[in-house]
Amino acid sequence: MPSTRSLPKLAEAAKDCRGCDLYKTATQTVFGEGRRDAALVLVGEQPGDAEDKAGEPFVGPAGHVLDDLLEKAKIPRSSVYVTNAVKHFKWTPRGKRRMHSRPLAGEIVACSPWLSAELAAVRADVVVCLGSTAAQSLFGGTFRLMASFGEVLTHEDRQVIVTYHPSAILRMPTHEAREEARGQLVRDLARAWKLAGGK
Ligand code: SF4
Repeated sequence: MPSTRSLPKLAEAAKDCRGCDLYKTATQTVFGEGRRDAALVLVGEQPGDAEDKAGEPFVGPAGHVLDDLLEKAKIPRSSVYVTNAVKHFKWTPRGKRRMHSRPLAGEIVACSPWLSAELAAVRADVVVCLGSTAAQSLFGGTFRLMASFGEVLTHEDRQVIVTYHPSAILRMPTHEAREEARGQLVRDLARAWKLAGGK
């Protein structure tokens, strides 16, 4: 961790992180992106295949879903800081494809100082945890998403809303389920934006 904890310094330092083994099989560290004065922070799970190659968070299929949800919630993406609980892509091979693999509790804990440093640097009052990995990074490994789904929680001096990860929508089996989850996510994002003072 660098002594100066500005976002650019943190991002630079995270490139050389060896806090767990995930750096060994990933292309690069994918640090958060956005403005230091962002009113809202969105935290996902980990970079996916596209993000690992691009070096940017939420630019793959889940990122396209997120862009659409933000637009529906009337939140400019340029006004939010987006990041992940885990900064390296964890995957397993299936033929020529690299399939997403869920990070272990120890990997979430190992990466949590980066997320804490980002939250301290951005100083947003409101955080949205997109999925259980993000919530477990903040609230610990015993956190269960469905028990606190949609509630406004408190973490240190921030308000936190826990909701679906956009990629969960892509995995839902029916159109109805996908639309229901999409609506829920838009409502949760809009509520977070309002809590953050967004107009
Ligand atoms: S996943 Fe996080 S803790 Fe592990 S090597 Fe990457 S940046 Fe470091």
